[in-house]
Amino acid sequence: MAQKPKEKISVAKARCACGAVRLEIDHPAFWAWHDHSEASRRAHGAAYATYVGSWKSRFRVMKGATNIRHFEDKAAGNRRSFCATCGTPLIYERACAPKWINIPRAIFETRTGREPRYHLHIEEAPEWVYRGEPLGPLKGYASVMCERARRRKPAELAGFQAKNFGM
Ligand SMILES: [Zn+2]
Repeated sequence: MAQKPKEKISVAKARCACGAVRLEIDHPAFWAWHDHSEASRRAHGAAYATYVGSWKSRFRVMKGATNIRHFEDKAAGNRRSFCATCGTPLIYERACAPKWINIPRAIFETRTGREPRYHLHIEEAPEWVYRGEPLGPLKGYASVMCERARRRKPAELAGFQAKNFGM
């Protein structure tokens, strides 16, 4: 079966929820990574943030530069930028990597040329994060899935094994 050839792209485009801000990086991005740090979790209001990293020299604000606001975490030396209208996180700059810029993967409209295969600060991930446990439909609620087996904590599991298997 003939596969449809992938459209060649030279730039990866991103935008905020309201469309006031549009960003662009040269394709492909340098890398992509999942950030499990508490700081990014809080800044995104999400379990973790997935970023696409690019050299700053390959990054451009295409629209809405005046609509971008910044939050500087002076203690950490990091800067986060977001849309003043809709609040979408747009840019994460880290003091430890001054020539790089990170853009949330979720705001891209196109492919970025990199898959997120790296996990940073995984030790900061909270216990309530979904880790791919098996799901089943919740009876009576069309769009709700429910975890089938409750995750057991290591101590609980050890007790369970000792009780049931004499381990
Ligand atoms: Zn916006």
